[in-house]
Amino acid sequence: MALDLTWSWEPKIQAFFQTLDPHLWEESSHNPVVLLDRLGPEGISRAMERPEVQAAWEEAQNRLREHRERRPPPLEAGAPLLVAYFSLEFGLTEALPIYSGGLGVLAGDHLKAANDLDLPLVGVGLLYRQGFGRQRIDDEGNQYEVYPENRFEELPLERVAGPTGPLEVEIPLGETTVRAGVWRARVGRVPLYLLDTDIESNPPELRGITDRLYVPEPQRRLPQEMVLGIGGMRALQAMGIEATVFHMNEGHGFLVAVERIRQLRQQRQLTLEEARLVARAGVIFTTHTPVAAGSDYFDGGLVYDLLNPYLSEVGIGFERFMDLGRERPGDPREPLCTTYVGLRMADHAVGVSRLHGAVSRRLWKDAWPGLPEGQVPIHSVTNGVHMPSWIAPEIAALLCRHVDPYWWELDGEDPRWAGVDQISDAELWAHHQGLRRRLVEAARGRGIGGHELEPDALTIGFSRRFAAYKRANLLLTDPGRLQALLNRAGRPLQFVFAGKSHPADDRGKTILRDIVHLARQQPRVAFLVDYDIESARLLVHGADVWLNNPRRFLEASGTSGMKAGANGALNLSVLDGWWDEGYTPAAGWAIPSGATMDSPSTDDAAEAEALYRLLEREVVPAFYERDGQGVPTRWIAMMRSSLRHVATQFSARRMVLDYFKDCYAPAARRVEQLRLLPDWGG
Ligand SMILES: *Cc1c(COP(=O)(O)O)cnc(C)c1O
Repeated sequence: MALDLTWSWEPKIQAFFQTLDPHLWEESSHNPVVLLDRLGPEGISRAMERPEVQAAWEEAQNRLREHRERRPPPLEAGAPLLVAYFSLEFGLTEALPIYSGGLGVLAGDHLKAANDLDLPLVGVGLLYRQGFGRQRIDDEGNQYEVYPENRFEELPLERVAGPTGPLEVEIPLGETTVRAGVWRARVGRVPLYLLDTDIESNPPELRGITDRLYVPEPQRRLPQEMVLGIGGMRALQAMGIEATVFHMNEGHGFLVAVERIRQLRQQRQLTLEEARLVARAGVIFTTHTPVAAGSDYFDGGLVYDLLNPYLSEVGIGFERFMDLGRERPGDPREPLCTTYVGLRMADHAVGVSRLHGAVSRRLWKDAWPGLPEGQVPIHSVTNGVHMPSWIAPEIAALLCRHVDPYWWELDGEDPRWAGVDQISDAELWAHHQGLRRRLVEAARGRGIGGHELEPDALTIGFSRRFAAYKRANLLLTDPGRLQALLNRAGRPLQFVFAGKSHPADDRGKTILRDIVHLARQQPRVAFLVDYDIESARLLVHGADVWLNNPRRFLEASGTSGMKAGANGALNLSVLDGWWDEGYTPAAGWAIPSGATMDSPSTDDAAEAEALYRLLEREVVPAFYERDGQGVPTRWIAMMRSSLRHVATQFSARRMVLDYFKDCYAPAARRVEQLRLLPDWGG
């Protein structure tokens, strides 16, 4: 039960672990493997004598059995389909710290939704010794990070066995070879395979390749991506897993396509060109960045040193390979950009929201010289979030009662969703108030500042990476006006912030420092240190309003607003990323921005003014408009709209179904057609 991550979204199984020992459950950072280990066989037996533990155990077992036995109708692809999904990070639970932020959580949610849909899919990633840098803040408000070591035997993972002991695969690295062990996490039915170079058969200098997520130095990053792409493909082969479709989540997985070519040539005597076509037919690529600098770039010298012997084996000339990653093929000074490789090696490439699709077509159009921008073949699948993981158990219980016990498996158009409108004002408000109080208590207890946060005051959540373009400090433009908003008699406004800045981003760090200072000065502002999946849950469950004010076109999607919106929070956001298509006046507000695709510069002062006006004239009055019983009926109606709209349109279920229809099934059919050609030889 501990090793099947179904517990990460099933409250009844979590309740069992918690009942065993509530204190240890918290202390273990919700890791059942650690909990059970600390209790030991005797401690577990003793706890099981308590009737409430027995009852919780029965309940958890039944629920797990139900999950395992549930098989939704099979998805018909029209060809053999098994998807291998590659990502450098996966955020499944705070107990498995191998993620950094939004990209990883999205990948984790993708696996969970694939499980719910019974889509044949396996995940492939890396297992880091120091996965997740924990944020600390010093007295001056400066962020620093500490990196606790992961002890793999204490994580909810199993080592994969090979024919003679633990499975290991070999990855070429320049003139030498590095080996990787393979671990498996079970996301219900969906396995996630994680590669690890910290094994005894490697020389000491190579064991550290999978030390840490997102090492900044290219000479350390490229070996990681080689382990992910080449090693991940070889691990699948060694385990006899014959995927037909390969999904590269972001450019980090670019070598998947190359290793696919190598394997095809080895198995089927294909020419390079034939193998390239067959490989391409099955490759799906998702780009996540809205700016070119967000991609990885590797200099020719580094690529030559680390990859050339391997490329020779595959049969790709070095310059030909470099050209795959260049804006202008043939320019030897240009480094290799992994996004270009991904775009050129994939039959279907997508951005992560409709708007980001358009931004990406403009950004990467040079890969298709002469093609009008509108015809550049980059499409979009809008992100979504795994609703059972992100909707608070209290709200989920209402959906179970009023919509369906398996509400997250319903299509967005299913008439049962109308049950959301049957949830009474009193009930929804009482549950939401409870969740806000929990957030306020946590922010007062372990946040920076926030001494005067009130349990019933309008609470705005803002948590995301502190990067300059996200403008966490837009609110500080006019301190007097902010002060007035915070302290209006009878109508106070309060803020809970969280988020990290990239260790190398000095402007982001300065903004973070400004927010920490604000929290230290303003008792109605708190900063929650060390944003992770656990604090993200606390925030998206308890906030009344979710604020997002990036410079327009720079937020590819954003998913925290979906998590908050599905819990009934109202989004107050610039029309960027997902909100550009998700916005409806029934469920939130749009902060006007003058930026357009052709003139993307923003006027910070004007947007700050618009934000203040919306807060003063719309948001605060709507929240404090109460009926005779003190219930904000109009606000609650908006909460219901938000919940229903977001939970149906921006679920990971909808996202994975879109991937299935637009990308996976067509790719599987193309691969099958090519397989049937006489030349294929099989
Ligand atoms: C959802 C999530 C994110 C991404 O949120 P954005 O809105 O895309 O910034 C980042 N970190 C954690 C821990 C999350 O849960």
